[in-house]
Amino acid sequence: MKRLLPLALALAAWAQPRYDLVIQHGHVIDPANRIDAVMDVAISGGKIARVASNIPAAEAKKTVDAKGLYVTPGLIDLHAHVFGYSGSIHPDDTALPAGTTTVVDAGGSGWRTFDEMLEKVIKHSKTRVLSLINIVGHGMVGTTFEDNTEDMEPEKTAAKIIDRRAYIVGIKTAHFGGNGWTAIDRAIAAGNIAKVPVMVDDKIFTLTGRTSKEKLLGKLRPGDMHTHVFNDRQLEVVDRVSGKVQPYMAEARARGVLFDLGHGGGSFLWPVATKAMAQGFYPDTISTDLHSSSIMMAESDMANCISKMLNLGMKLPDAILRSTVNPAKSIGRYPEIGTMGEGQIADVAVFRLRDGVFAYKDAWQHKYLGKQKLEGVLTVRGGEVVFDLEGRAAKEWNQ
Ligand SMILES: [Zn+2]
Repeated sequence: MKRLLPLALALAAWAQPRYDLVIQHGHVIDPANRIDAVMDVAISGGKIARVASNIPAAEAKKTVDAKGLYVTPGLIDLHAHVFGYSGSIHPDDTALPAGTTTVVDAGGSGWRTFDEMLEKVIKHSKTRVLSLINIVGHGMVGTTFEDNTEDMEPEKTAAKIIDRRAYIVGIKTAHFGGNGWTAIDRAIAAGNIAKVPVMVDDKIFTLTGRTSKEKLLGKLRPGDMHTHVFNDRQLEVVDRVSGKVQPYMAEARARGVLFDLGHGGGSFLWPVATKAMAQGFYPDTISTDLHSSSIMMAESDMANCISKMLNLGMKLPDAILRSTVNPAKSIGRYPEIGTMGEGQIADVAVFRLRDGVFAYKDAWQHKYLGKQKLEGVLTVRGGEVVFDLEGRAAKEWNQ
């Protein structure tokens, strides 16, 4: 009988595989755990169970072959629009196919409207949706509201954040058309009360009375984020005459101000991005600013934004770091998200990195031909396959 015991145990193990899903043979890039190698990823009960070489297929209820593909933590899009804003879109349709498992809505709702967003969007999305709440109480609902400083109330904004900390991770100030610093000052005041970061995009044209230098060095706190880093109208990254990265950019970075890509429909311009990237000024976080026109015209989902970064010199592991660990840290959610550490939520993306000639468009619809393209192949959210371009997780159909 004793001799049969190992066989019985093996049969029991076979009968009840310990893992729900094993993604096999993919090149895992998990910057949080310093992994950049071919490995298998085992998922069980919605969590990452194990990341290791040669996890036996017999231990999995289902396997996905990811040979020749990259496997990363689900991406975190720090700046997207899924509520309030006129161009906001449902996150699942655009995020999940691009390997994005978390989106941060950047200012769509204010303290008056956040609960509506919670009911209508957050609770009805497979994508994890977090929020940078607008300093404007009504949210991002047009100039009349967004220029109204009377609706920028730090105490009420902070109270909503404290009440909804599970979802609200910071504050956004955007589109302020007035003069001076009221919008930024009020957002920072709310941030100080609730102890959260602020994301800023307000313009710097002469008539606003605002400058990039004062904004970055005199206003923003360490941990605050300036989005639209490559658009030149909310932030003058590159000196418009010399083409050199402004000295105050390094100074701001040294004091802890963060810079976010925020591609969008108007905020990624080749003349700015190529010069800044060539001089080594990379965005801390890669994000889409996704909305209805940016997805249609520039196709600027996370895979597209990362591809643009790769073609401008960023290495893939670095791009993944800036799309997972960095955004998670910037909103105080690391290591809850952004890693494939064992025991963490199983948000996983599988990508193909294609070589060839690919057209990329900036916000002016100017074309740049790149040599690499990152393409979403399969996405897992909380252990569930939610996007599967090629049916890798699907059963064969038998007639
Ligand atoms: Zn935006």
